Amino acid sequence: LYRGFKKMEHTFIAIKPDGVQRGLEFKLVGIKVVVPSKDFVQKHYHDLKERPFFNGSCDFLSSGPVIAMVWEGEGVIRYGRKLIGATDPQKSEPGTIRGDLAVVVGRNIIHGSDGPVTAKDEINLWFKPQKLVSYTNNAEKWIY
Ligand code: ADP
Ligand code: MG
Repeated sequence: LYRGFKKMEHTFIAIKPDGVQRGLEFKLVGIKVVVPSKDFVQKHYHDLKERPFFNGSCDFLSSGPVIAMVWEGEGVIRYGRKLIGATDPQKSEPGTIRGDLAVVVGRNIIHGSDGPVTAKDEINLWFKPQKLVSYTNNAEKWIY
């Protein structure tokens, strides 16, 4: 239950259909904000169970709000990884999200599935199928 309304000012921001659909080839089909539990993120990072940083990464990912998204489109997994940059921000290129905005590997800002199998598993873990939206792109209508 959200209890913030009494104390603080809030605004409602919505990206309207033209903003959503004039995307760069890719479609946003799911988005939510959530503070995941440690149990939950242990599932998310299950592949890293044996790594020395597993526990630290799980503590970190469950420490606050995460904006979780599902994007759709041909090549979106690979393109997502490219946009995000290398795992270690010291090694990621300028122009990538991690390269520009992060400094250390344990605080690298953003996650992206590394292949079709993990993408499927991660989407299933984070989203119920009925929370994803199907739509036909109408972008042409708004481009003059
Ligand atoms: P990526 O997020 O690029 O797919 P991995 O799947 O290998 O990278 O690792 C998952 C996350 O675990 C990384 O994003 C990073 O936050 C953390 N991590 C990876 N390697 C290390 C490391 N050597 N030391 C600390 N944290 C690490
Ligand atoms: Mg990974």
